[in-house]
Amino acid sequence: MTGERLLVVDDSAEMRSSLVDAFLNPMGFEVLLAENGAEGMKRALADRPDLIITDQVMPDMTGLEMLRSLQEAGHDIPTILITGEGSESIAIQAFRLGVVDYFKKPLDPEQLLAAIRRGLQQESLRAVPSPRATEADTFRALLEIGQSITASLELEIVLGQVLEEAVRFSGAEMGDLMLLDLETEELHTRASKTSDEGVEIGLHVPVADELAARVIANGNPLVSSNGKNLLYVPLILLGQVVGVLGVSNLDPTRAFSVNDVEVLSVLANYAAIAIANARAFQESRIERARFREMLEQSSDAVLVIDELGYIILVNQGACEALSIDLLSVLGRTIGESIDNPDLRGLYEQHGNRQVTRGEVSLPDGRTLNAQLTTIEGMGCVAVMQEVTHLKELDRMKTKFVTTVSHDLRSPLTGILGYVELLNRVGELNDEQLGFVERIKNSVSTMTNLINDLLDLGRIEAGMDRAKENTHLRPILLQVYEGMQSEIVTKQLDFELDCPADLPMVLGNPLRLRQAFSNLIGNAVKYTPDGGDISVTVSVTDEHLIVEVRDTGVGIPVADQPHIFDEFYRADAVAESHQGTGLGLAIVKSIVEAHEGRVWVDSKAGQGSTFTVTLPTLTPGKGLMDSPRAP
Ligand code: ADP
Repeated sequence: MTGERLLVVDDSAEMRSSLVDAFLNPMGFEVLLAENGAEGMKRALADRPDLIITDQVMPDMTGLEMLRSLQEAGHDIPTILITGEGSESIAIQAFRLGVVDYFKKPLDPEQLLAAIRRGLQQESLRAVPSPRATEADTFRALLEIGQSITASLELEIVLGQVLEEAVRFSGAEMGDLMLLDLETEELHTRASKTSDEGVEIGLHVPVADELAARVIANGNPLVSSNGKNLLYVPLILLGQVVGVLGVSNLDPTRAFSVNDVEVLSVLANYAAIAIANARAFQESRIERARFREMLEQSSDAVLVIDELGYIILVNQGACEALSIDLLSVLGRTIGESIDNPDLRGLYEQHGNRQVTRGEVSLPDGRTLNAQLTTIEGMGCVAVMQEVTHLKELDRMKTKFVTTVSHDLRSPLTGILGYVELLNRVGELNDEQLGFVERIKNSVSTMTNLINDLLDLGRIEAGMDRAKENTHLRPILLQVYEGMQSEIVTKQLDFELDCPADLPMVLGNPLRLRQAFSNLIGNAVKYTPDGGDISVTVSVTDEHLIVEVRDTGVGIPVADQPHIFDEFYRADAVAESHQGTGLGLAIVKSIVEAHEGRVWVDSKAGQGSTFTVTLPTLTPGKGLMDSPRAP
């Protein structure tokens, strides 16, 4: 992915291999290895890596000693320090030396990757001016310190740096950086320099300093030479005084100048910016932690892929479901790291789409419902929920319905047979004939319902899989012929616009006829006498598009999302028109079994257009041979 050169310095072979072989190499980094600090030092000087990842505890020379030696030799290479134990003092030393980040084992690959990226982007870390700087030097150094300070998110380090520079610039003997505690409103020393030892950071010591309190109250710098020379400047954040940067000299001859006030004010501004950064970072860190926690707690499997196709986040649920481990997939593509063919297929199919849904089967028999969503500026998020139980319920429901329907059909045939025989065994009066007619109608409605139910069960169960190269035109003509008498009776104007040279589709002719028969049948049924119906077929690169348009009663917007559900009938027609509410469910199942789509555009009172798309046979498979229409 990157090609940047990293130097890994670690005395443990096991660590070297788990970090390098399992993580850094697969991510495309060029990795140099060193087994101890001295060797690391040599390689760093000879090969100039872009970044160093070093263990702290090594036999001859610690990671920090190596880093210090490199810096003394004038080489400031971004470095990430790793320790087994970790202590505050190591952390402070590490940050003083300007490390990019500091990790305790075990490593979190995601955080390590983020630190590596940060380190590679980082250019200059610190600029230390000479004690007696000229004005130009001062200006340049201030600028550089500003860059370094505002680039760092570690507040303690920045405050320490600011104080160190403040003392150095002003030629003071000591100094303190004090911040107001937001909750208690007390002033706390956060960084302090009292001797040549260096700046102490990470402090939180309350102070009662009258002069500092005065600066906080009025927001102005303060110079005093009462007893000792002292200069205090306020830290101002969003118009509020949040702290004081102060330097002092016991030597009464070393007073502070106006220039010192200005330089310290600039430094105080840097500190204020750092505080703002740290607060913002802290908030985003909390948000991130909350988000991670939510992801981990979620029983759904979640996978995030960046815009270049690399996996950047995987939760525990996804690791378990897909039998993967975090280290082996982070920073790699789906193709490289995930075996599941369904998920790979869905991701390929997703491409640049907004949302793609589908099922992912796992080798242990479980089924996940996956939704892939594109998120602008981030990439693609795949969320997968287990639906094995629902699938099983659905299968049981279909089986139950199919069995019951099947068992109901025989007695109905018996009823119809005996009703037909009734007038053969004796003459029936008009009233009796009327009753017989009603029985026949009811039985026929029940038979239709049962046939529809059985069909739906068969289609959903994937029977009728047999498909052949199929021409649509003869199918539509047959459907039209079957309905001609009704069309004539209702005086409908019927138009079929279907080119003779349509490409074929791979389909089951019987089922396709059933689908179009349901759609055209509905158009005829729901269009009042004298209305218009048109069936139009057109072709795009890869699909046939069939539109069945009518000028009938239309479908209210509230009903439209449900009409493809089983047994759903719009209230407006439920009384006036006979039906089972299964016709469109059958259409949808058939179309989807042909990898097509169906949808409706309709306006109540004005008419409806049902559109079906079906993939055409792709040329090159030898199936498109002279698609002659019959
Ligand atoms: P039904 O047996 O009720 O026609 P369908 O599943 O075929 O069942 O259709 C479901 C519902 O969709 C119908 O009850 C009706 O409300 C509506 N519908 C379907 N096609 C049309 C159409 N062409 N015009 C108006 N409404 C329609």
